[in-house]
Amino acid sequence: RGTAPVPPAGQPRLTVLSGPSGVGKSTVVAHLRRVHPEVWLSVSVTTRKPRPGEVDGVQYHFVDGDEFDKLVANGELLEWAEFAGNRYGTPRQAVLERLEAGVPVLLEIDLQGARLVRRSMPQARLVFLAPPSWDELVRRLTGRGTESPEVIERRLEAARVELAAESEFDVTLVNTSVEDVTRELLALMTHNSGG
Ligand code: 5GP
Repeated sequence: RGTAPVPPAGQPRLTVLSGPSGVGKSTVVAHLRRVHPEVWLSVSVTTRKPRPGEVDGVQYHFVDGDEFDKLVANGELLEWAEFAGNRYGTPRQAVLERLEAGVPVLLEIDLQGARLVRRSMPQARLVFLAPPSWDELVRRLTGRGTESPEVIERRLEAARVELAAESEFDVTLVNTSVEDVTRELLALMTHNSGG
């Protein structure tokens, strides 16, 4: 039972961005990637099929179920979770190496994953990305146009549950504009107040 040391103020640490499906996490991350390439973003492994425009090794490492099983069995994932019928996980070694090198690290993961990280890495800062309103969240989830009605319904159901989790997080950012949220997120990551 180890308690991870809290890094001294000013030292980068692990930031976890989570929130309901469709709230815009991946849009924020894509923007951050464009505007601040110096921030190191963990690339997750997933059994989900690539969406149009997604590139293996950029948004995700796309693997099949057997490969995912192996990563789990070999302890290579820092956390993993099943979400809407697919599995997603964070490669452990890459994250730990960056943190040791003093590089700020951002994980964009679902709520179950955020809870697992909280337990295994108590020094992580958990950031909840909240929608401006429930109606806006439904609009975004429905409007993506790449998912079947069944998949959208599963994601809405997950979102209802996930919205209630805000209180477990250290910080809430309301996603009114991608630029504002990205700026706030970056400030959280680089100006470590140690709290
Ligand atoms: P999507 O299929 O829309 O890309 O992602 C679905 C959900 O999986 C999102 O909430 C996303 O944050 C989450 N997710 C992506 N990568 C990971 C990961 O490595 N671990 C966990 N627990 N969730 C992830």
